[in-house]
Amino acid sequence: MPQYRDNLNVLRRAFPQPVSDQEHDAWFVFSVLRALDRVDAMKSQRPILGEPQEIDFSKATAACVPDEMSTVELVCRNLVDHLAGMFIWGHPRSQVNVINPPCIPGILGTLLPAIYNPNLCSEEASRGVALAEAEAISMTARLMGYDPNLSGGIFTFGGTGTLLYAIRLGIEKAVPGAMQNGILGNMPVVVCSDQAHYANKTAASWLGLGANSVVKIPTAPNNEIRTCLLESELRRLLKEGRRIACIVATMGTTDAFGLDHLEKIRELRDELVHEFSLDYVPHLHADAVIGWAWSVFRDYDFTQNPLQFPDRTLRALAGANRRIRQLNMADSIGVDYHKTGFAPYVSSAFFVRDARDLKMLTRDQSTTPYLFQSGDYNPGKFTLETSRSGCGPMSALGALQLLGKSGLRTLLGHLVTMAETLRNRLTAQPAISVMNPENFGPVTLFRVYPDDVDTFEMPKLEQTDARYAAQLHRFNDYNRQVFQAMHAEALRGDGVVISMTDRFRETDYGQPVVALKSYIMSPFSDEQYVQAVVDSVERARKQVAGVFK
Ligand SMILES: *Cc1c(COP(=O)(O)O)cnc(C)c1O
Repeated sequence: MPQYRDNLNVLRRAFPQPVSDQEHDAWFVFSVLRALDRVDAMKSQRPILGEPQEIDFSKATAACVPDEMSTVELVCRNLVDHLAGMFIWGHPRSQVNVINPPCIPGILGTLLPAIYNPNLCSEEASRGVALAEAEAISMTARLMGYDPNLSGGIFTFGGTGTLLYAIRLGIEKAVPGAMQNGILGNMPVVVCSDQAHYANKTAASWLGLGANSVVKIPTAPNNEIRTCLLESELRRLLKEGRRIACIVATMGTTDAFGLDHLEKIRELRDELVHEFSLDYVPHLHADAVIGWAWSVFRDYDFTQNPLQFPDRTLRALAGANRRIRQLNMADSIGVDYHKTGFAPYVSSAFFVRDARDLKMLTRDQSTTPYLFQSGDYNPGKFTLETSRSGCGPMSALGALQLLGKSGLRTLLGHLVTMAETLRNRLTAQPAISVMNPENFGPVTLFRVYPDDVDTFEMPKLEQTDARYAAQLHRFNDYNRQVFQAMHAEALRGDGVVISMTDRFRETDYGQPVVALKSYIMSPFSDEQYVQAVVDSVERARKQVAGVFK
């Protein structure tokens, strides 16, 4: 037999068998099991896999494709080794960021398409997995108050992708024909709050508008856009003859879960269309990649409170619902199932209230002669991507089916309860000031101060009075040092991994305010780990006191 045939026989074993072969299936499953076993051996009390280690990227430059074939076993080992040092987001000692631990059906939703490799480009290439996309879209649309018979949506590559879609659609509304002709004349603008995600700028620059075309409106202390300033800015832009490609309402800011007043923004937009007799309606997008999941409380009975949440939790959930229930007033919505839907990366979808909007993005059929020969469901006619993975929709569907409204309410309610408990405990500490005490979400921002500081006064003075700039910078530094000490302790397995934000907001005189940040996302979080944060801050303060000047 020629050598290549020998090789081929070996390699065929490394693929799932096309025709039922239960023995081989068992071996395939066993490979997965062995990988999981190896990962399990890396678990400890610490919220990371294996030992904390510096990653040596110089090793990566030496990498090359091996001359010879390897085996499934050896490669499996190598792949598992790459997980060393990963944070375990689902660990109760992990409160790092808005990164959810995926549930098992969410994981299966990624595994199954990885085996059968559907391509959501067309119905032909994805069959029932295309249906999974349509189902996940309808379920979520209905949850958010859209009519699934009129609305539309598609999965895309992250929250950033949802903003790219929204702004692109808005450009087409403000400058009809731009898909063909490009943008001629005056650059249209994107308007959002100064707490909106930087992905707005990413999308604007990649779309050729330029990051400078993103106009930022100041926010109130609770991190929501100041609608009166939005109004005056929109008026100014319209008077100057600028076209408005997109107004982005942030429904759950990344660092502080701030929620814009979407209803007011919508009213304002409609008024201005009338007043300025605009020949287009500026597109209104809700960046709800974080906040969307709170839609499960749209029809929660807050009076009866059947899930028996504590009072403070109930108030926080109602507070978030008050804004999130306005989601259906937006022309489009961005959703990340991988942020607050307990699905793995990447699982994001872009929704439009009027499905006809997506048609504006359709490319000329003559450019895709080899595609879309059959079937009704051909999102590839308008999606930015050509090949599109089935993992996003299958994971979202898996997670949504497992949790249902009740499960999502339970998980979000628990996370908020834990965050409320943390805010309470931190507030009781004289050396700590909680920076988002009125917050409704699972994130807590706080600043820590040395012993002699009046923490009732200082945060306000730092925020408003430029004469306190020196103190602000000094305490920014202090917080960085406290963070370092806490982080080192957490990696040893005693504390809790939290994170730090270099600029959770700016002072009135334009300086960055550093804050420590706890983002509770683990279903395994509990009171003792909340107390562990408070204790760890205290130990870090003692440690830093020796060296801080
Ligand atoms: C995370 C985030 C984004 C970007 O989403 P990705 O899924 O990370 O691309 C956009 N907007 C907000 C408010 C976010 O928090």
